Amino acid sequence: MSDTQAPFLTIIPADGDAVASGAASAQAGAVPLTNIFDFDRARLERFFEEELGEKKFRAHQVMKWIHHRYVTDFAEMTDLGKALRSKLEARAVVHAPQVIFEKKSNDDTQKWLLGMDAKNAIETVYIPDKGRGTLCVSSQVGCALNCSFCSTGAQGFNRNLSTAEIIGQVWVAARALGNVPHQQRRLTNVVMMGMGEPLANFDNVVRAMSIMRDDLGYGLANKRVTLSTAGMVPQIDRLAQESDVSLAVSLHAPFDELRTQLMPINKKYPLAELMDACVRYALRKKGESVTFEYTLMKGVNDQPEHARALVALMKDFDRRVQMKDAAKINLIPFNPFPGTQFRRPDDVTIRSFQKLLNNAGMIAPVRRTRGDDIDAACGQLKGQVADRTRRSATIRKRQESQGGVRAG
Ligand code: SF4
Repeated sequence: MSDTQAPFLTIIPADGDAVASGAASAQAGAVPLTNIFDFDRARLERFFEEELGEKKFRAHQVMKWIHHRYVTDFAEMTDLGKALRSKLEARAVVHAPQVIFEKKSNDDTQKWLLGMDAKNAIETVYIPDKGRGTLCVSSQVGCALNCSFCSTGAQGFNRNLSTAEIIGQVWVAARALGNVPHQQRRLTNVVMMGMGEPLANFDNVVRAMSIMRDDLGYGLANKRVTLSTAGMVPQIDRLAQESDVSLAVSLHAPFDELRTQLMPINKKYPLAELMDACVRYALRKKGESVTFEYTLMKGVNDQPEHARALVALMKDFDRRVQMKDAAKINLIPFNPFPGTQFRRPDDVTIRSFQKLLNNAGMIAPVRRTRGDDIDAACGQLKGQVADRTRRSATIRKRQESQGGVRAG
């Protein structure tokens, strides 16, 4: 199978409207155009050499036009010869996700709703802070992992995003922010923490993260790109082999029974296996830490016994990695969303939980809620998901039959 027919590509029919990924979905008779956004440097070089009969450095020029200057029209890429520009126009396109709307919060957090196809849209959020700007990027339309406290999980799952649709989120935000890689950086960090489980869409996510870290892409240092997983153990090991980014793990409970209730994936990969994989990931490189995300939910996982068990788990991780503070904890007060049974603990409970961790010598910042007024806070991302799993409909039905939402 040639690159232009490979199933991971977003195929754009000649009229320019995006359709679902896969050669089979190209309109009958239309010439499928390759979306250049689907290519990292290695694949774009191959495309130029093998498909266009051009030199590698031409691929580098095109990457700079797209990711540094935000130019998507080949005709404007003036350092390419006319013949090459015509060749590119006949074979390829640079197609970014469509911006449906853009909202800015009172605290300068920004959110984009991006159309991925006729029925699905995802949300991308930019969070500026002192000296840094973090973009939270989605990897799937919906999520199949079904975590009980998650608004994305409640919507069910439709499909993986292509590389183009993942890096396209970075491109849309970077362009809107006036980001100039290597010069005027507004975008300093990317976290793969939006909709979806990134390791369930491994190849496309790894390829997009390679563009984020490439000097011809967004030039972000490895440690400034973070992948957050619910705990897909074999894929954590694969990530250690194939990419070099920071790892964050959604932990949310220090006991297997509770974690399985909150995150069904824990049944398949229980805590002991997950922590083993995290240790292997940290040990692949000297001085590497792993971040553990812990969402505090009222009366569920916010009690002193949870804090003590969490300390034991983290201390054991530090001991095995042989590094103090190898385990970093982020405490995230739960952000309620319509229909959820979970509640946010009060401030006193949050502070006591944090104090217990601090007294055990652990740094455990409480993440500030950002973008609340535009529903861009952590765990509130929704988008629009044409749910092929029918999970959202099942949840709605259950709530109706229970006569509304159970209070936490
Ligand atoms: S918390 Fe993450 S893995 Fe779990 S359902 Fe939500 S998006 Fe999926």
